[in-house]
Amino acid sequence: MAYDFDLFVIGGGSGGTRCARIAAGHGARVGVAEERFWGGTCVNVGCVPKKLMVQAAEYGAWAEDARGFGWDMPRGHHDWPRFIAAKDREIDRLQGVYRTLLGKAGVTTFEARATFLDPHTLEIGGKRVTAANIVIATGSTPHKADIPGAELAGITDDLFYLPQRPARLAIVGGGYSAVEFASIFAGLGSEVHLIYRQPLPLRGFDHELRQALAENLLAQGLHLHRGVIPTHIALDGVCDAQRRVHLSDTTELAVDYVIMTTGRIPNVASLGLDRAGVALNAQGAVAVDAGSRTNVAHVYAIGDVTDRLNLTPVAIAEGHALADTLFGGQPREASHENVPTAVFSSPPLATVGLTEEEAIRRGPMDIYVTRFTPMRHTLTGRHGRRALIKLVVDQKSQKVLGAHMLGEDAAEIMQGIGIALRMGATKQDFDRTIGIHPTAAEEFVTMRTRTRVAAAAEAAE
Ligand code: NDP
Repeated sequence: MAYDFDLFVIGGGSGGTRCARIAAGHGARVGVAEERFWGGTCVNVGCVPKKLMVQAAEYGAWAEDARGFGWDMPRGHHDWPRFIAAKDREIDRLQGVYRTLLGKAGVTTFEARATFLDPHTLEIGGKRVTAANIVIATGSTPHKADIPGAELAGITDDLFYLPQRPARLAIVGGGYSAVEFASIFAGLGSEVHLIYRQPLPLRGFDHELRQALAENLLAQGLHLHRGVIPTHIALDGVCDAQRRVHLSDTTELAVDYVIMTTGRIPNVASLGLDRAGVALNAQGAVAVDAGSRTNVAHVYAIGDVTDRLNLTPVAIAEGHALADTLFGGQPREASHENVPTAVFSSPPLATVGLTEEEAIRRGPMDIYVTRFTPMRHTLTGRHGRRALIKLVVDQKSQKVLGAHMLGEDAAEIMQGIGIALRMGATKQDFDRTIGIHPTAAEEFVTMRTRTRVAAAAEAAE
């Protein structure tokens, strides 16, 4: 049977766009449907505008820091609407870049929702389209905790379009988004309350790194409400624009805005997956194998909708590998090992490989840790900027299994360390590398004295 397309991609986010472009480059006839915005979450309501916000937030403190270096600079006032307008112009430009890239690659684009009618047929804005292969790349959506008054809270998407910056903000959750937005709004001058149910934020990250981050956030004056959950959210009663957040430890917070960053759910609703026979896993994500194939042989899924490692560059890698496999004669799977990742908190943290807690399940580890005040802050005197650098080294093979950093430029530094770990670098390889002086990054290659040996029995929680 002749199909309209060799490949149809549902979702024009980072992963879907990469898959479509590469497949078209290999000569496939490709279509892609996007119902909301080209570039998906990352470009529109995720990584990109978030990073611009991180940068906006940094300037105020930098102006104050400059005093330590002899500059007489006032902190000044931040014009939120002017910043949001500038951010929106940049996002519009990027959406155009995505559309142009697809057009130049010869991909047919549809600006409408695509739903399965049968395993090879989609309905897109009233049209029927058939495809030999179909990729589900619909991403995920923020999910609010189910508590009374949840409708009074916003989600991350809303923060990018607020008409005014809230003077007092409550953030529920302790994951990536919670920590990042807490830092952003605190940096811009808001009173920030971070409410999380664990003893420390960022469950799953290295315990020592989490602890160091929490200490920095506290030193910066953020209000950390640890080990609690919100029981309900209510209108203020006096001013409708204000909210009261009631916590499980009986604390009551009066704030101007509440946001829930309590995780994301895969976008599988109303796709007609049942008509295609595509199965979900127990968590409600599209179930796939290592090659991103679903239980239906010609239907694939990549990115957040599969809930594997929900990071933009991973979705891109999955989409690229799939296109190469299907149409490029280069069968391969995207690797989910040693993926570097960063949380753009203030200061940022970045990590690659295993945490100490994960590593000790494999055997005894040599742990190298250094904590220091970055050179800049010896003169600025700014609080909450202590850095931490840590290596987790397998005692037997001396292979570096994990690298962790909290501190200025951690994300930029960790990218290169990620290459070293991927290549299987040992501690000796790190030691043989000459440091760049004076930098914070040189600490990765100058830690000579083991801090401790870690073994399973001595593990932190
Ligand atoms: P996460 O899944 O990372 O974090 C959710 C947080 O909400 C956790 O702290 C979780 O607590 C808490 N939580 C969940 N349910 C409840 C509840 N009912 N009551 C109270 N607390 C609750 O969500 P994010 O939105 O922050 O991020 C989603 C994913 O997107 C990330 O995991 C990451 O993969 C990606 N991302 C990446 C970024 C980057 O690369 N810089 C930035 C932002 C997101 P607990 O830990 O106890 O479960």
